[in-house]
Amino acid sequence: MEGIEQLLLNVLFVIVFLLFIPILVEVNAQRLSKIRKNWIVIISASLAIISCISFPITIMDGYIFDLRLVVLTVAGLYGGVSTSILLAAVTIFYRFLVGGTGVHATLIVVIILLFCIILLTDYFGKSSRKNKIILGSSLSLFAALLAIVNSTLLFGAPFSYSFLLIFLTLTYCTTAITIYLYEVFQESLLIKKRLIKAEKMDIVSHLASSVSHEVRNPLTVIKGFLQMMEQNDIPEEQRKKFLKISIEEVDRANDIIRNYLTFAKPSPENKRNLNVKEELERTIQIITPLANMNGVEIVTKLKNYFIEGETQVFQQCLLNITKNCIEAMPDRGRLYIETKKENGELIVVISDNGKGMTKEQVSRLGEPYFTTKGREGTGLGMMAAINIIETMRGKLSVSSTVNEGTNFYIRLPIVEECS
Ligand code: ADP
Ligand code: MG
Repeated sequence: MEGIEQLLLNVLFVIVFLLFIPILVEVNAQRLSKIRKNWIVIISASLAIISCISFPITIMDGYIFDLRLVVLTVAGLYGGVSTSILLAAVTIFYRFLVGGTGVHATLIVVIILLFCIILLTDYFGKSSRKNKIILGSSLSLFAALLAIVNSTLLFGAPFSYSFLLIFLTLTYCTTAITIYLYEVFQESLLIKKRLIKAEKMDIVSHLASSVSHEVRNPLTVIKGFLQMMEQNDIPEEQRKKFLKISIEEVDRANDIIRNYLTFAKPSPENKRNLNVKEELERTIQIITPLANMNGVEIVTKLKNYFIEGETQVFQQCLLNITKNCIEAMPDRGRLYIETKKENGELIVVISDNGKGMTKEQVSRLGEPYFTTKGREGTGLGMMAAINIIETMRGKLSVSSTVNEGTNFYIRLPIVEECS
């Protein structure tokens, strides 16, 4: 069957432009905005359509067949109404440029397909993987059949069974495989996101015991003062002083609980400008109880810099790193936290003088389930931290020496700066 090479070439275009490029974009997407990502996918799908139309099977003068309808179906169903209208316009425009009598047939088929896509795209989005494959493949098969019926019945193109069989099979299989692979990939992304969420619950429960312990301290102080004030012979001045300290202790307990809850209570957030100094102070508040339990002293040198992000997510990242540092210093140590600006970037330095890591351990940081803590560890903390930093368009680097300590450098873009 002549022309089959062309169709196989079409399959390659679909896989490259509709699968590889969008997946590459998705993987590196954390740095790109959603709108930009969408545009790249639309342009890539347009390239797929243009390449397909440029290498078709010519049935007769002016009538060409290719996998453009597969591209339109898959990209349209995933992309939604505006994407499908844009891609339909690209298809019709380019097909008219190529010319020939078949252009009218294209116009009819594309418009009917566009109509179906617009009707189905919402339902498609909510369907299970299996239904997506069935729906997408059936739709592109329907469009391909329509194209053939249309051109043979209405426009009198020649007809051949072997061509029909090959064309329809390829259309169906290419659509099914593309959707299947894309879904598998999406699922692995989703699993990673869920892991990060699960990891957060792990720190929340770990910190709970140290937080409640820390709240008990101010309560004990307050109780002591109240008992002393019960006695009648206390001078007025002394009483005032006791009251003042008690109120301060109440505030402290309140702060500890509030900060813990800001982190622990899941609530949807939007990106906004965060003051790194305030964020770090909050992290330190949450982590102090744990530091106290381990006899770790926290030393800071913080300045006001502004970055873009979500408080809870950024807290999770900072807590994961500082918690690791504290755990690396089981009896006494010093946790040092500094913010500085270098080459227009913010650097948050977090260092400990704990056990440190070997080169091999450093290179495995961020690998899911890599832990040296046995049953105590999850091996997900660093993975989550790195993922969060990348989402914030930053980078994490680590230097460590065994038995001396570890330095973490978080580089993040600065939004605006105040002194
Ligand atoms: P977990 O803390 O549950 O083990 P993480 O992903 O947070 O998982 O950390 C992975 C591993 O990296 C830890 O088990 C530890 O061996 C190592 N590590 C991380 N931070 C430090 C640090 N500050 N000092 C020494 N080792 C560290
Ligand atoms: Mg950890």
